[in-house]
Amino acid sequence: MSRHVVVVGAGPAGLAAVEHALRAGARVTVLDQAETPGGQYHRRSLAADSARQPEFDRHRRLLAHPRCRWWPGSTVWAFDRVENRLHVLRGQADGSGRRRLTLVPDALVLATGAHDRTLPFPGWELPGVYTAGAAQALAKGERVAIGQRVLVAGAGPFLLPVAESLLAVGAEVVAVLEANPAATVRKGWSARPWRLAAHAGKAGELARYAATLARHRVPYRLGRTVIEARGTDRVREVVTAKVRADWSVVPGTERTYEVDAVCVGHGFVPQPELAVAAGCVLDGGFVRVDGTQRTTVDGVFAAGEITGIGGAITAAAEGAVAGCAAAGGEPAPALIRARDRARTFAERLATAHPIGSAWRGWLREDTIVCRCEETTYGELTRAAGDAVRPGSHALKLGTRAGLGPCQGRMCGPTVSELCGGAERHHRPVVQPIRLGELAARTEGEPE
Ligand SMILES: Cc1cc2nc3c(=O)[nH]c(=O)nc-3n(C[C@H](O)[C@H](O)[C@H](O)COP(=O)(O)OP(=O)(O)OC[C@H]3O[C@@H](n4cnc5c(N)ncnc54)[C@H](O)[C@@H]3O)c2cc1C
Repeated sequence: MSRHVVVVGAGPAGLAAVEHALRAGARVTVLDQAETPGGQYHRRSLAADSARQPEFDRHRRLLAHPRCRWWPGSTVWAFDRVENRLHVLRGQADGSGRRRLTLVPDALVLATGAHDRTLPFPGWELPGVYTAGAAQALAKGERVAIGQRVLVAGAGPFLLPVAESLLAVGAEVVAVLEANPAATVRKGWSARPWRLAAHAGKAGELARYAATLARHRVPYRLGRTVIEARGTDRVREVVTAKVRADWSVVPGTERTYEVDAVCVGHGFVPQPELAVAAGCVLDGGFVRVDGTQRTTVDGVFAAGEITGIGGAITAAAEGAVAGCAAAGGEPAPALIRARDRARTFAERLATAHPIGSAWRGWLREDTIVCRCEETTYGELTRAAGDAVRPGSHALKLGTRAGLGPCQGRMCGPTVSELCGGAERHHRPVVQPIRLGELAARTEGEPE
């Protein structure tokens, strides 16, 4: 009987893993909490962007393979390391009557991706302040603009498609601000450009964004960022300032913009909760993998943005290697080379758009860091300096930072950076589950 490979996450990494595990002869179950395949990159556009239709058709054909079982709307909420058992809830997240199922795979590929990160600043909790991902999801998925006059700020090339989506739904984008100075960005991208050949399509994409911004007369400024949002009922204006390479504010360079919305994105944070539950070792928050995408746990592979932020092409290249290896195959040298070439993009992203270490200089005592529990910067720093409460776990219990409904997905990396860089803790429940569902009988593994 062929090996049963379970792939969690149907983004670019997961789908490539499915394709290559099938090619290597495995039976594959692929599941995703979303109803459609494609992950963050493809999902957003399927409804609106007919240019992506061929991708959608390709995904459909792949998932209809006779050795492939596709479970949309399925959330993996726990992993039992002793029994090597995945616990799954099938059905709409906000509906009742989700089914409880389990899977015991021969090999597991984790491709759970990343979500966007926003650093805190005074006023970021005001209505009208959005993460860049949320602004893009509303614009692309629902054709809704988050405001009429919007400022886009943060770090990384992802700000450009966000600005483009906002313009496409009729918002006026007053400026796009990249916090890193021109010298950092130029140095990061221009060194040995031939090594970026795997991502040649990105140059065309970049030119398209530049043309769109120019057509709408949207200024793109480097070395400037949002340091405060002001308003009472909602954001009315934002204060921006020039920042140095480490993101410390240059005094006297503050400038105010009148806006009714601001969208901010400072890169991406991996979602390694399931990998942590499986016992995988992390490096700097990312899942550690070897040359064939094997994690430190036997039979568990990882690919895509949980192993490093490198874009959809890199994620797919890693997924291809992981899928083949998980099926018991030997990944071909060409697959390994393609993966290694694609990873260059991840290195460039990190050097061209780093997070400056001095961002905490924007914070004030009363700046909220954990929005769910309204924990302030002052509370956190006082607790971190308290000798009676050493260690991040005690610090969380003492301040409640990261213990609210989002379970630290928004503030986790920020809290950990502010309080000494603690790694994430193992959570037996990695996704929210209702008490009734927890008490319900498990149906076990279906045929
Ligand atoms: C909000 C957002 C918008 C983006 N927009 C762009 C863009 O416009 N242009 C661009 O070039 N790049 C964009 N990116 C980056 C791009 O999406 C990624 O580079 C790429 O999708 C990474 O692929 P992946 O397979 O690693 O992860 P993802 O595409 O994130 O896929 C991970 C999948 O795992 C699923 N999953 C996670 N946990 C579980 C679980 N416990 N149970 C079941 N399923 C689970 C998720 O639902 C998701 O579908 C965006 C990223 C984000 C976060």
